[in-house]
Amino acid sequence: MPLGGLGEVGKNMMCIEYGRNIIVIDAGMMFPESDMLGIDYILPDWEYLRDKKDLLRAILITHGHLDHIGALTHFLQEFSAPVYATRLTRGLIEVQLKQEGMLERTTLHTYAAGDVLDIGPFTIEPFHVCHSIPDSVGLGITTPAGLIVHSGDFKFDHTPVDGWPTDQAKLAEFSNRGVLVLLSDSTNADQPGSTPSEAVLDDAFHQIMREAPGRVIIATFASLISRVQQVVNVAQRHNRKIAIAGRSMVENTRMARELGYLDIPRGMLIGLDEVDKLPPQQVVIMATGSQGEPMAVLNRLATNSHRSLRIQEYDTVLLSSHTIPGNEETTHSVINRLFQRGADVYYGPQAQAHVSGHASQEELKLLISMLRPTFFVPVHGELRHLVQHAKLAHELDIAKGDIAVIENGYPLTFDGERMRIGERVPGDYVFVDGSLVGEVGPMVMRQRDELAQSGFVTAIARYDRQAGKTVGQPRIMTRGFVYVPDAEDLLLRAEDVVRSAASVKRGTVPDKVEERVEQALSSFFYRETKRKPVVTVALVEV
Ligand SMILES: [Zn+2]
Ligand SMILES: [Zn+2]
Repeated sequence: MPLGGLGEVGKNMMCIEYGRNIIVIDAGMMFPESDMLGIDYILPDWEYLRDKKDLLRAILITHGHLDHIGALTHFLQEFSAPVYATRLTRGLIEVQLKQEGMLERTTLHTYAAGDVLDIGPFTIEPFHVCHSIPDSVGLGITTPAGLIVHSGDFKFDHTPVDGWPTDQAKLAEFSNRGVLVLLSDSTNADQPGSTPSEAVLDDAFHQIMREAPGRVIIATFASLISRVQQVVNVAQRHNRKIAIAGRSMVENTRMARELGYLDIPRGMLIGLDEVDKLPPQQVVIMATGSQGEPMAVLNRLATNSHRSLRIQEYDTVLLSSHTIPGNEETTHSVINRLFQRGADVYYGPQAQAHVSGHASQEELKLLISMLRPTFFVPVHGELRHLVQHAKLAHELDIAKGDIAVIENGYPLTFDGERMRIGERVPGDYVFVDGSLVGEVGPMVMRQRDELAQSGFVTAIARYDRQAGKTVGQPRIMTRGFVYVPDAEDLLLRAEDVVRSAASVKRGTVPDKVEERVEQALSSFFYRETKRKPVVTVALVEV
């Protein structure tokens, strides 16, 4: 039962159910698109699990990216089950649990690639995969109906930064046992060829550090720990020391160092307060904010609002990331402002400073050919990615009827011989807005949209039901529609509209009159301005 990540890139969550046993794979969140006004992030809809709470045996996490662990604290407020994660992933989860004060009451288990665990009727075998964060795994799950292989987020990188390639031997072993169904990462299913190795980025880092006349600032995702390692390695050869800016990146770096996933030579890591004491040519700053996020370091540098760092002439900024669709505008505006402040900025494909952590077509085909699954389900992608991935599988002779292109909420049933697609359960967005979780739905989003288009107007008046008219002067308030001092005439005439629309038969209830006045005001404003502000009217009975 996919509850998230099928039909989108983000908020991954998959349930495997047998008898009265459910295990959940990943609990991720998704960032909002730019038209989702005010939304902080989005959770999977786990309504399906609410009346099956006692069936939940375990939550298995494939790796530490937010689209796989970001919903965990929310999930664990409703459900209780032990969480299994690799060491680094566990460290990242602990950081989140600690922030929410939930660390003590959560049961965490560490598993590692190569382990074999029995949980209820399932045998779980995590296996190592390469991805853009260390310690990522895919999962082999032996069920009474057959072997399920979940790829996790993966690529076949032969020269990964940590020297640990995807475990092809384990995949061959699964293949020998016979794979019932493969669930495989579709993020790059529309990219031909193979995804380049992380190792190719070294050249770009060398060139930047060699040629930069002053400080080098490299922005990337806070979770890209292997990228930090690469920068450290290259910086060392150019005699540059490294400072880390951004709370989440500082936390992740500290934790990854403690656990031994990040090797930074003694004396090489400096504090932000020490940056100004060194000659600029000896400094590299790793920073958050490669997506233009308003609160992250790069935007603060662009807007000159960082606590201790300022962009100066001869700074070189490198965006080591790709821009997530929907973030283009904010990212570009940050880049423009950095140029304005005198920095030289390298970004986008021509900077050659980012490679994807996800397999492209040739690698996806390799995985399918190695495993030869009976059934195939593309996961982790928008519908277009899932469809492309299904086409690849079909090219490899998997029959169309044995491939399921499904979106969140469609359960698949396997009896060992057949695959059946069931009735859809809820699988929509659950919006998180401040401390509101799920209260903000499509209706509120529509209203926000209307408010954002033309603002609002509120009219308040005292109303005498016996006389059937307003008493005294109505008050008109407005925000985001017109600038009041410049629109006095319009608003005075609006008061007249209120008075005349509220003159009705004696004894009419205020509700009915309010409706009438709202309509009259709306058409008045549309006639006068060709805009449709949100209009509300309150009549107070006297
Ligand atoms: Zn990932
Ligand atoms: Zn992912």
